[in-house]
Amino acid sequence: MINRNKCFSNLSAGYLFPEVARRRVEYEKNHPDAKIISLSIGNTTEPLPAFIAEAMANYALALSTQEGYSGYGDEQGNSSLRKKIAETFYKNTASPDEVFISDGAKCDIARIQTLFGRDVKVAVQDPAYPVYVDGSVISGAAGANNGSGYDGIVYMPCTPENNFFPDLSQVSPNSLIYFCSPNNPTGAVSTKQELKTLVDFALGNGCIIVFDAAYREFIRDSSLPKSIFEIEGARKCAIEINSFSKPAGFTGVRLGWSVVPKDLTFADGTPVNKDWTRVMTTLFNGASNIAQAGGEAALEPEGLAAMKDVIDYYLDNANSIKNTLELKNFKNAGVKIYSTGNSPYIWAQFPGKKSWEIFDLFLDKCNVLVTPGSGFGPAGESFVRFSSFGHKKDVLEACRRLESLILQ
Ligand code: PLP
Repeated sequence: MINRNKCFSNLSAGYLFPEVARRRVEYEKNHPDAKIISLSIGNTTEPLPAFIAEAMANYALALSTQEGYSGYGDEQGNSSLRKKIAETFYKNTASPDEVFISDGAKCDIARIQTLFGRDVKVAVQDPAYPVYVDGSVISGAAGANNGSGYDGIVYMPCTPENNFFPDLSQVSPNSLIYFCSPNNPTGAVSTKQELKTLVDFALGNGCIIVFDAAYREFIRDSSLPKSIFEIEGARKCAIEINSFSKPAGFTGVRLGWSVVPKDLTFADGTPVNKDWTRVMTTLFNGASNIAQAGGEAALEPEGLAAMKDVIDYYLDNANSIKNTLELKNFKNAGVKIYSTGNSPYIWAQFPGKKSWEIFDLFLDKCNVLVTPGSGFGPAGESFVRFSSFGHKKDVLEACRRLESLILQ
């Protein structure tokens, strides 16, 4: 028999969200009448803007005609979509041939590991979106979990004490640094000065930054950077990963992109862009052409306006949650709220309590699901994440229940 890939046995049991789901099912078994509201998973809930859905429907219908049919597309994705992405999001900081269309940010984060292999050193923000760490373990770049994290990974705590920007001095030279802003789960958005510190560190230490900007469209403060390429020098040390999932509601449609500047090289001088082209053409065969038609519509003026409306909707939900958590019952119990107004997530600290304890308390007393902060990394302990992805009426009902929660 074939031996199991050792990397899989290194993975700790229970990826965060399956465990949340397991506890929900268990609770519902014992409380069949409970009407649970989830403020937990970062899945979108609002319908696609009609303008975007129609563009996909028309494209799909045209596929049944001789003139409208197309098979495999351009290697890096439709050139018109790459051009639109470069113009809309990167102005003069990236060109269309540096943009690669994908089936979403998670898939790109997974594939990116093949570029660097198992010998690369990895640093992640702590807490962080779990895929950076779990993907590193599966690819062999990280070892077993030693109880306080995986061997071979440098966890960079991002806490209220450092204003959610990590101390980079513990990162080894020549590391791959995963960095997410606006951050999932903390909601923190790094300033231009902070990202300059990050870029300068990477340039000075031979590091490459994988910058996850999946939530960039939630940034409403125009002084905050939406892309790592707004920072001078980033083209020599960063890759950016992005997605239509959250702004356009494409979590199910599946469409994202990466930007790999031609100035970025490996130690031997090989352009990273060259190897990324190889990865994307060998391990991936292009995003759905229907989804790409939707992406193009999303970047038309009407599509951009529709995406803004959807994000406004979630930001308004986030504001309702924040206002609720600022009420006396939470304040008097010492709960600290971190909310930026530029993210769908609210990060809340319950001093002296464990994250899963708070999860169970909300589930039991309010029938509301939240996400335990400890699932995002050791520094997330005693925090929980509230997500604003939900129908407004459900979010408001959850807020109403939270208003009367008595915390000891
Ligand atoms: N990056 C971050 C930080 C996320 O939170 C998510 C999804 O929740 C993703 C990437 C995945 O995005 P996609 O749907 O494009 O795979």
